[in-house]
Amino acid sequence: MLYNSTRNKNLKLPASLAILKGLSDDGGLFVPEEIPVFDRSLDELKELDYRELAYEIMKLYFDDFTEDELKACINAAYDDKFDTEEIAPLSYVKNVYYLELFHGKTIAFKDMALSILPHLMTSSAKKNDLKEEIVILTATSGDTGKAALAGFADVPGTRIMVFYPRDGVSAIQKLQMITQTGDNTSVVGVNGNFDDCQSAVKAIFNDAEFAREIKEKGFCFSSANSINIGRLIPQIVYYVYAYCRLLKDGRINANDSINICVPTGNFGNILAAYYAKRMGLPVKKLICASNENKVLFDFFKDGIYDKNRPFILTSSPSMDILISSNLERLIYHIAGDNDEKCASLMKGLAENGRYEIDDEMRSHLSDFLEGFATEEQTFSEISRLFGETGYVLDPHTAVASYVYNSLRDTLTGEETVIASTASPYKFASSVLKAVGEDVSSKDDMQLAEKLSTMSNTEIPQAITELKNAPIRHTKEIEKTDMKKTVTEFLS
Ligand SMILES: *Cc1c(COP(=O)(O)O)cnc(C)c1O
Repeated sequence: MLYNSTRNKNLKLPASLAILKGLSDDGGLFVPEEIPVFDRSLDELKELDYRELAYEIMKLYFDDFTEDELKACINAAYDDKFDTEEIAPLSYVKNVYYLELFHGKTIAFKDMALSILPHLMTSSAKKNDLKEEIVILTATSGDTGKAALAGFADVPGTRIMVFYPRDGVSAIQKLQMITQTGDNTSVVGVNGNFDDCQSAVKAIFNDAEFAREIKEKGFCFSSANSINIGRLIPQIVYYVYAYCRLLKDGRINANDSINICVPTGNFGNILAAYYAKRMGLPVKKLICASNENKVLFDFFKDGIYDKNRPFILTSSPSMDILISSNLERLIYHIAGDNDEKCASLMKGLAENGRYEIDDEMRSHLSDFLEGFATEEQTFSEISRLFGETGYVLDPHTAVASYVYNSLRDTLTGEETVIASTASPYKFASSVLKAVGEDVSSKDDMQLAEKLSTMSNTEIPQAITELKNAPIRHTKEIEKTDMKKTVTEFLS
């Protein structure tokens, strides 16, 4: 199978090279020439454990990997880094299923893909005789940086350097990053905001002269961001897994459809659910849930994508996004895999910050339903569910949970799976506030203990390990010194 750019079908690469490149040279995203369908029945797939199922799905996409190579990647990723054998367990609460994607190292859903991406990359490097060591550069506003660090730490043949805005991440996020272990990791605070970090990293990636210099020293740059197909494809697995679990447990019958509701930012997670449906998973509706940055809600409602609007900081920061990069892949598909049409719409986005799709394209959006939750609705949803059941949601999952409940009357009786994207412990302060607790004058550890008592759940290791973890990364720099810092890291 080859992958082509969403903006030019003639730019084609096999999976391993698409994974190494991340983004196509023309700025487009890699998409499979054809979305594969399952080659085994769901009745067979339901008997597999997470790793076995992951192989059955990924082999259809990453077909230039040998069976041994792919299985080695899967086994290295989905092991006891996860605090449950199941990897992605389903919780049945008040007539709906929460698919808990937060049992990995950093207790958020990005672990699902970032624990396998480093292995897919090093395996890709080997098969393509890449001699250089892979250097991941990441700018982060908090969560992605830590998940990428945890994924790449001590993976042979890789190094990772993360830049974060010195005063722009939460105390706990900073602590998570500066205590990161692994001889191949480096974490640097920048005197600037997230955009400064992001722009400088992009400039380094586009600096051909610099790329030549570091190649001579035996390195090449790569990126771990969410548009990489090495992140997208592994996310398909857990939707199929959830369906199979429901089937196996007799919660649904063969061929029954389910709905999938996803708290959405960059459109990666819900796009994986769309691919699962196209592969043959019986899915009735894909519910796209936004927070107050409801650019996607407006897109699904009116067919107009318009990022020209104020950026709102919410309690679900990983969904505070105005350009949902992965939406480009959906645009390409609903245009009938039309690269020219996709390229022209993306040109509109780059030049005017907006584009409008035609009626033909809109008619292919009937698989989707859209909704959004305000901050108040998000908080009241956390409080409602906790009051009724004792189950605690993080603010991102609460956005989806609220949206599902607000649309329930328009749905037609299928079971619904809500993607639960973060542990409430990651956002303990917001969660406790939502249920009316006084959080003032409590430090992060006290908040976690409070949440533990209240919800009768154990504090995850990702939080407890911070307590006595030595600080390993103290470097802080001016934003003009990022390139110099990369050079130092590589010498
Ligand atoms: C990244 C993230 C999201 C948004 O996922 P996308 O794939 O960007 O749509 C939602 N919740 C949490 C906790 C996240 O970290």
